[in-house]
Amino acid sequence: MIENNLVVYNSLSRQKEKLVPIHAGHIGMYVCGPTVYNDVHLGNCRTFVSFDVIYRYLLYLGYKVRYVRNITDVGHLLDDGEDRMSKGARLDNLEPMEVAQKYTNGFHDMMRIFNTLQPSIEPRATGHILEQIEMVHEIIKNGFGYERNGSVYFDTLKFAEKTGEYGKLSGRVIEELIAESRDNLKNQDEKKHPSDFAIWMKASGEHLMKWNSPWSVGFPGWHLECSAMSTKYLGNHFDIHGGGNDLKFPHHENEIAQNIGSCGCQPSNYWLHTNMLLMNGKKMSKSDGNTISPTELFTGDSPHVSKGYSPMVVRFFMLQSHYRSTNDLTDEALQAAEKGFKRVMEANKTLGSLQSNIIENAPLDSKINEIIDGAYSDMNDDFNTPRALARLFELVTVINSLKEGQIALTEVSSSCIEKIKTSFHAILFDILGLKDESDTNAGPVDGLMQLVIELRQLARTNKDWPTSDKIRDSLNELHIQIKDGKEGSSWNYK
Ligand code: AMP
Ligand code: ZN
Repeated sequence: MIENNLVVYNSLSRQKEKLVPIHAGHIGMYVCGPTVYNDVHLGNCRTFVSFDVIYRYLLYLGYKVRYVRNITDVGHLLDDGEDRMSKGARLDNLEPMEVAQKYTNGFHDMMRIFNTLQPSIEPRATGHILEQIEMVHEIIKNGFGYERNGSVYFDTLKFAEKTGEYGKLSGRVIEELIAESRDNLKNQDEKKHPSDFAIWMKASGEHLMKWNSPWSVGFPGWHLECSAMSTKYLGNHFDIHGGGNDLKFPHHENEIAQNIGSCGCQPSNYWLHTNMLLMNGKKMSKSDGNTISPTELFTGDSPHVSKGYSPMVVRFFMLQSHYRSTNDLTDEALQAAEKGFKRVMEANKTLGSLQSNIIENAPLDSKINEIIDGAYSDMNDDFNTPRALARLFELVTVINSLKEGQIALTEVSSSCIEKIKTSFHAILFDILGLKDESDTNAGPVDGLMQLVIELRQLARTNKDWPTSDKIRDSLNELHIQIKDGKEGSSWNYK
């Protein structure tokens, strides 16, 4: 059995709780994935990076984790009632599934660039229409759903009265819900109660994505898909459900209602919510121009930044805020993150050359052990990445002092140096998911280097020696060397 001291903040109980899995050694985690009707934005990335660290830490602790993150490719409506996918299709002049594929591909690329691990299962809503229809049946059978003109609504008032469960997650009372219900206003008159929400919607003639059902040719409600897919892959009752805190209401509140309404079971023991990414202190918003895409941030092609920042600098920056705090993106904060990230990566390289002749029990060992243990305690305290990073910086100071000779190498034992190495590696790379960008040939640098290699080859073929010499000398200055072999040319850092 895995012993853990991990506590997580459960939005449902509004307190930190020890994480006790339903099945020892196993964790089932469902995270609401993106709606793939346009390019993934940085706010989405922040949420998925946060859950990536949570996933990585659970794996690090030794759990066998089934991580399910869906793709929403139907049913997520805009305030005017249009399906987001149909809108994407109309704007791009594409078939809706082409839109879904295009932006799913883009989303996967971005997740790779941010070095996130792939989920264990990535179900699509359109691939689970039968399961959703089945759930609507169950909800109607249990008396919590009713049909009106081919659409089926969830009866929130009846559910609230019978179970007392509606509004528990969001902390809203039914009177507030009446006032605030914003679900597809044009169908308001069909509902018994304004806070009732559609679990199946009859499609209009021009609607592009629709399926046969016992009630109408239509499509499932957005909230329903997550209930159906989490149940299918994780069972009626699983460990963790996550998403951004903007999803608490109505999405997650309604998911809970649907699960209880269909199987009598609260779906998840722990509800984890990430906070929003801001820019210059304000919510990122396309409409007032306060937005930057991940690519603009990497290239620096935006009035909001003075230069481009690499994906790992952006990831490092995100991890400097706790996932439940807002994360305020500013040029100054990114510059500071860039410096910090470089410092940590350089210290990691320095570590490789540190050696001590004392085998064990040197004077500074216990202080260093305390710092390392502290970093793991921070991760155990609801995944406190900013505090864990602060501990790593304490280690960086020790490493640099050892290198510069301010601390004698006799002060730290060789076993303690080994422990710094393994912990540094585990925390930075395995848990926080950072990588040393200077070490890898992946990403845009590789593409650019291939171009340089081709230009050099062209110059040589044309006997343009000044150009090929210039390329060689410039690369030399950048500590890059090109090796010519039978299979072609390759490059590496010297
Ligand atoms: P969506 O594609 O809008 O369904 O969102 C996908 C995920 O990103 C959800 O968990 C949202 O809560 C989350 N999200 C959306 N906007 C932001 C933001 N500005 N900051 C952090 N997370 C966000
Ligand atoms: Zn969801």
